[in-house]
Parts: sequence; C-alpha cells; structure tokens
Amino acid sequence: MKQRIIFATGNQGKMREIRMIMGDMGMEILSMKEAGLEADIIEDGKTFEENALIKARTIWKMTKNDIVLADDSGLEIDYLNKEPGIYSARYMGEDTSYDIKNTKILERLNGVKEEERTARFVCSIACALPGGKTLTSRGVMEGRIGYEIRGENGFGYDPVFYLPAIGCTSAELSPEQKNELSHRGKALREMKEKLVKILKEPGRE
Ligand code: IMP
Repeated sequence: MKQRIIFATGNQGKMREIRMIMGDMGMEILSMKEAGLEADIIEDGKTFEENALIKARTIWKMTKNDIVLADDSGLEIDYLNKEPGIYSARYMGEDTSYDIKNTKILERLNGVKEEERTARFVCSIACALPGGKTLTSRGVMEGRIGYEIRGENGFGYDPVFYLPAIGCTSAELSPEQKNELSHRGKALREMKEKLVKILKEPGRE
C-alpha cells in the first residue's frame, strides 16, 4: 500500500497547494476529511511552529502509520508589534469579514511612512512521521502593507499585502506565482526536501 500523507486542514486551497508541491513523491495525499478524521484542536501554542506541532501531533495520535503534516501561518506587521501574528485568523473575531479586517489594518497604519509599513507572511509546517519523530520547516514572504485594498485572488490579508519588487499585492498574483513566492510554498518545499532525505535513510522502506 502507498504511504499516506495526511494534511491536517479542511482548507481546499491548502490541499491544492500541497498536491502541486508534493504530488510527485509517490504518496497518497489526503485531507483530514478524506482520511475520515475529525478533531477539534486547541491551538494554544505561542509560536507558529508550536501551533503547527500541536496540530500534527494531535492527528498523528489518531493514525500513527501515516505521515501527518500541519501548518500554521499568519501576518506580522512590524509597526503593530508583529500583530496580528499567530492570531491572524482570530483578529477582530473569526467570523469578521476580511474586508473589515483589512480596512481596520489600513486605518491603523494611516499616516505611517512607506519604510515603516514592513510586514511578512510566515508559515510553519510540522510533520509527524510514523515512528513519532517530528520535523518542522518555515517559510517567509516579505512585503509591506499597502494603502488600499487591491486584487481579487488569494484570500485573507492578501489584498493589503504589497510586494514592492513585483509592484502588486499578493491578491493580484496568479495561483502559480503565489505558490512560487509564498511563505506556505517555501515552507512546503523545504519540508518536501527534509522528507525525501529522511525517507531515504537506511532502515526505512
Ligand atoms: P491558519 O489557517 O490557522 O494558518 O491561519 C492563517 C491566517 O493567517 C489566515 O486565516 C489568514 O488570515 C492569514 N494568512 C495566512 N496565509 C495567508 C495568505 O497567504 N494570504 C492571506 N492571508 C493569510
């Protein structure tokens, strides 16, 4: 039977990304739902990495023979002391629309100079292997908070996240471009390299 990778998410966008990046590893890639798993996970870690590990370990305990991957990500705005950070999804309430959240962020940065608008998307990926060993990887996409909401692609804070080198927001990138540049894309590719290496170690089939 093919080795299975279960990604601890219910987000279809993230599933598409992981399939684009890890689809050639010869493994079956499943979401939690596809694996028939359900869990209410309390993300009470203090860092992206801790939260990703909490998710990966919780799901791993339910499967043990599978490779479990989990991610945690968010936006750090330097001028706001790295807010919303690990609270990105919960900022102003989980059910508040991103139009409202993004408008609030623009307001909080009203009058702030270009060079002080630096921000980054961060993503940590955690992996729990069948023997219980864990691995982590981290990816970052640097940018600035823009001056207006721009772009229809992407999700979350993408419409206010401006990429000076490209001259657009991350909501104006194509899915392929975003995958290439994004914090999650980078973290997933780093995790793939780590996994390929570890799975080649003697003693593993
Ligand atoms: P997670 O799904 O628990 O990792 O929550 C991440 C939260 O951070 C999301 O709900 C978004 O608010 C934000 N976020 C993470 N990655 C991105 C991105 O690529 N674009 C826009 N917002 C993001």
